Amino acid sequence: MAEKRMAADCRKFPSEKNCDVYMSGSKEHVLEAAVEHAVGSHGHQDTPEFRKQIEEFMTEETASV
Ligand SMILES: [Zn+2]
Repeated sequence: MAEKRMAADCRKFPSEKNCDVYMSGSKEHVLEAAVEHAVGSHGHQDTPEFRKQIEEFMTEETASV
C-alpha cells in the first residue's frame, strides 16, 4: 500500500536538445519540477494547457519499496 509516484521522462517529450532528464516523485512535485525544467531548459511557457500536457505525459511508477 505505498503511495503512487509519477515519473516524467524528458526523452519522451519532443525536444530539440536530446534532453534525458528523468524525474519522479509525487504527482504535484513532479509536475512542478517538470514545468520549471521545461520553462527553464526548453523555453516553454507555463500555462494551464501545458501543465495538462505534462500531466498526460507523466507515467505511473510502481512503488517497489
Ligand atoms: Zn528536458
